[in-house]
Amino acid sequence: STFQQFSLSNEIEKALDVLKYTKPTDVQNEVIPRALENQDIIVQSQTGSGKTAAFAIPICEKVSWEENSPQALVLAPTRELAAQVREDITNIGRFKRIKALALYGREPIAFQKEELNQKTHVVVGTPGRVMDHIRQGTLQLDQVKYLVIDEADEMLKMGFIDEVEAIIQQVPSDRVTMLYSATLPRAVEQLCQQYMEDPAKIKI
Ligand code: AMP
Repeated sequence: STFQQFSLSNEIEKALDVLKYTKPTDVQNEVIPRALENQDIIVQSQTGSGKTAAFAIPICEKVSWEENSPQALVLAPTRELAAQVREDITNIGRFKRIKALALYGREPIAFQKEELNQKTHVVVGTPGRVMDHIRQGTLQLDQVKYLVIDEADEMLKMGFIDEVEAIIQQVPSDRVTMLYSATLPRAVEQLCQQYMEDPAKIKI
């Protein structure tokens, strides 16, 4: 299989060339076409499977450069993961000049507010800091069409699940939701049941 089969725009194909992603991984083969068709997806897969690009590619494909408010929100359990996801999105979206911003704690909130004032296409953040920005009115979610909950089981383990749920409730319901989790504990399954629409379940 190749990336050509997804009929991605030239800008995205070119970025994948630069990254030397010649062939989609299994999880990308399952996720990309469904995400492009706006289907909700639950993905059970491990790190190293190419799971980040599996959501980053369709998001970068769908994001419109002209729109100023965030069109995609990715929730991640740690600042390290959030920073990595932000970097992957920036690399995949480089020829579309997609601006991705990472929001996490232990970094001045004032600086992040200033950044949020500029054009931002994708926000990647840890639940606590994302919630802070929502409460302070500095993160606009009304244009979000893609919501990714990455490593949901880790967020549950770290005690972030209530914050994750509160954030989901702030995102317009007319959206695509993708949830990634190595395991599916009951609390994560409940989240899927409550906030996803007829999701495809993929296990790699
Ligand atoms: P992840 O599972 O998202 O942490 O990705 C694991 C590693 O695989 C990262 O270093 C990615 O840059 C790389 N990667 C993702 N997709 C592909 C692909 N289609 N071809 C080659 N490498 C890839």
